[in-house]
Amino acid sequence: MKPVYLDNNATTQVAPDVLREMQPFLSDYYGNPSSMHTFGGQLHRKIEDSREMVASIIGVSPEEIIFTSCGTESDNTALMSAVESFPRKKHLITTKVEHPAVLNFCRHLARKGYRVTYLPVNNLGQLDMDFLLKSLDEDTVLVSIMYANNETGVLFPIQEIAEMLRERDILFHTDAVQVVGKIPIDLKTLPVDMLSLSGHKLHAPKGVGALYVRKGTRFSPYIIGGHQENGRRAGTENVASIIALGKACQLALENIQEESRNVSALRDKLENALLKCCPDVRVNGDTEHRLPNTTNVSFEYVEGEAILLRLNEYGVCASSGSACTSGSLEPSHVLRAMGVPYTAVHGSIRFSLSRYTSDDEINKVIEIMPLIIKELRQLSPFGREKFSCPSS
Ligand code: PLP
Repeated sequence: MKPVYLDNNATTQVAPDVLREMQPFLSDYYGNPSSMHTFGGQLHRKIEDSREMVASIIGVSPEEIIFTSCGTESDNTALMSAVESFPRKKHLITTKVEHPAVLNFCRHLARKGYRVTYLPVNNLGQLDMDFLLKSLDEDTVLVSIMYANNETGVLFPIQEIAEMLRERDILFHTDAVQVVGKIPIDLKTLPVDMLSLSGHKLHAPKGVGALYVRKGTRFSPYIIGGHQENGRRAGTENVASIIALGKACQLALENIQEESRNVSALRDKLENALLKCCPDVRVNGDTEHRLPNTTNVSFEYVEGEAILLRLNEYGVCASSGSACTSGSLEPSHVLRAMGVPYTAVHGSIRFSLSRYTSDDEINKVIEIMPLIIKELRQLSPFGREKFSCPSS
């Protein structure tokens, strides 16, 4: 049975058109794009076509795009490039709610002697802009702030941050892994210096990503070896996946406004129904400035993992935090940074939709969630006490 897949911030289905586009490059056209012969060399042109499509989705020039193996590599490369390009500067600024691809790399740099400021957020997951301003100093080499949070969908004021940093001539990287393909981005009017994206979040396969580096930005490669990607990222190109990423960007760009509207209407329908379905339910994060596809909902007095297991039995896939931290019993660092009460953090579920989510699927979740929550609350000592009625 096809699952009701509401875990699209973890990964997405490869679009059928994307799969069709990449398949010949896994079978018939297996040459190496660096080869002298036509069989391999012709792939070089295909890679450049794909670079143009990736560049288009964020409004930049193809030469400013470097293909990588994933969002994590793009993030790591951006941070490493900044510190290597400006070796005298030893201070970085990021936020407490970044993905581990940035957060753990900052911790790694801190162990090597760098000073890192982790910006706090308020209970809606919004940044304290004054804190950011006050944290900047002569020694600041890079500010890295995500475009939108993967757990709550909350969007940060990237335009405002980018303009503020541009005025002060401070390098700015944004992790836009959850944003590219979901809402329009135009770097012609948004002065960020580096931006990360990842194929598998926008209906391309896993194992391909890209880093945008603004023309004129000092750059130091992270992966060193051959001359691929103009000497900026060594390693024989993942040709089929690069072609897939180009196609995925082209498809997303064609329909971005309409898809965003449709997806957010379904997300809002689900969210409103969940808020009505039972008492002590809350939506985590700023609901006004948010990705169209994400909702993070807390159900008090139940464990998120228990909800997920029950949903799984009904064939519904959701998540209780970022996929990279699930499997550990650590509560979400994002919700904790937002000051979400302990009991609500433990009962939090993220639903993330995509262009393939249907109204029927949302109706199914709306139907089963009250049953699951009621059943689990009956099992929990706190829930039983609070929600039991004389007849039950
Ligand atoms: N940044 C964010 C905001 C993400 O959500 C993710 C993946 O969940 C990543 C980075 C890492 O991307 P990848 O899985 O392509 O390494």
